[in-house]
Amino acid sequence: MSERSTSRVAVIGAGIIGTMTAWQLAARGHQVTVYDQWNVPNDRGASAGESRIFRTAYKEGGDYIPLLRASLEKWDELEQSSGRKVLDMCGGLTLGRPDHPDVETVIGTAVDHDLEHRILDATEMAREYPQFALDPDEIGVFDPASGIFRPELAVIAARDESVRHGAEYRPYTPVLNIRPLAERIMVDTADDAVAYDKVVVATGPWAHRLAGVTRQQVHPARLVAGWFAAEDVPLHSPDRMPISIRRHDEAGFSCFPAVDGVAVKILPHHLPWLPLDEPEDLPRLIEPEFVRAIERAVERLLPGLDPSALRVSSWIEGVSPDGAPLMGPSSLDPRITLAVGMSGQGFKLAPMLGSIAADYVTDGASADTIDLFDVARLQGGAA
Ligand SMILES: Cc1cc2nc3c(=O)[nH]c(=O)nc-3n(C[C@H](O)[C@H](O)[C@H](O)COP(=O)(O)OP(=O)(O)OC[C@H]3O[C@@H](n4cnc5c(N)ncnc54)[C@H](O)[C@@H]3O)c2cc1C
Repeated sequence: MSERSTSRVAVIGAGIIGTMTAWQLAARGHQVTVYDQWNVPNDRGASAGESRIFRTAYKEGGDYIPLLRASLEKWDELEQSSGRKVLDMCGGLTLGRPDHPDVETVIGTAVDHDLEHRILDATEMAREYPQFALDPDEIGVFDPASGIFRPELAVIAARDESVRHGAEYRPYTPVLNIRPLAERIMVDTADDAVAYDKVVVATGPWAHRLAGVTRQQVHPARLVAGWFAAEDVPLHSPDRMPISIRRHDEAGFSCFPAVDGVAVKILPHHLPWLPLDEPEDLPRLIEPEFVRAIERAVERLLPGLDPSALRVSSWIEGVSPDGAPLMGPSSLDPRITLAVGMSGQGFKLAPMLGSIAADYVTDGASADTIDLFDVARLQGGAA
């Protein structure tokens, strides 16, 4: 009988990636300590802001489909074991012309992977989903395996499951340095230096500050979300309005039904994700022309919403140059596992990314990872 040895593991960062990693590690018997510079959950990193989208027919490509399916199973497991409802499978639509590359990819992945889906022309869309204004030559691709998360609750659920399996949390404790020594790895804070066997770095937009991750590999970027009041709230609620990805000549965005009983959220894709020198440089006030550009998109494409933003807010994310996460051993020291650079994709995949990070800690390799995540692809300096 083979026996797996368990380790003392530090997880740095307690957003959705760190808490999911802690859950997966603790469930495998490791002794886990999770550090965060703030509280858990917090609204300063990337894992907050009312809602997140899950999609299966994926515009980012078919390589992700097995991970998405496996993640959905783990989200279900988390809901069952925690007793918290964090994901509402309200379905999803990709909207645009059939020859738009993202629409083509969504249909292609649905066909290739035998995913249930429906294609609706503009007339069918107007009848079934009047919330969306489509041009006559546009279509909607409906993916029933899509939904909307409550991200803060999801972090709480993953945190609590990790604690149930024995993980400990050190909130309000910034990690200042990770020092690999011959026999152990030291994690330094202002208060102490603690020895671990392994470390997982899940520091989101702060990735470039630890473990030799360079800004060229992961940089902090600003994402802006706007909320727009629905005239007919029930029509814009998750039980009648799917999440959506919009592709149009004039605008592109993701769109989240009204979970607060008031407003639909829009996250523009056609406006730049502003690179920041440091996460702390995130400006609270957003340029009026940026807000007006989101408002114009709403006025043109979402007829049931008041086109004057009732709220806009800015958020940060850790972004890699090719838009795929970095998962795997750091070239600084193989006992350090990186789980960074989520690039706007991390939430839906978080349970499997946590599981992959736990595989690296436990076995030094992961059968579930995909080539797209290979840390070595972005080796411009020490990783
Ligand atoms: C506005 C917005 C919308 C998005 N929409 C979607 C979506 O619809 N679907 C989807 O799948 N994904 C989406 N994403 C992406 C997804 O939310 C992120 O990829 C994911 O939340 C990243 O989680 P994380 O744990 O890596 O980072 P974070 O949540 O930022 O967590 C990192 C944590 O590390 C801590 N930390 C950093 N440095 C230190 C240190 N030195 N010491 C201690 N603690 C430290 C921070 O305090 C923070 O809590 C979106 C992202 C944004 C910003």
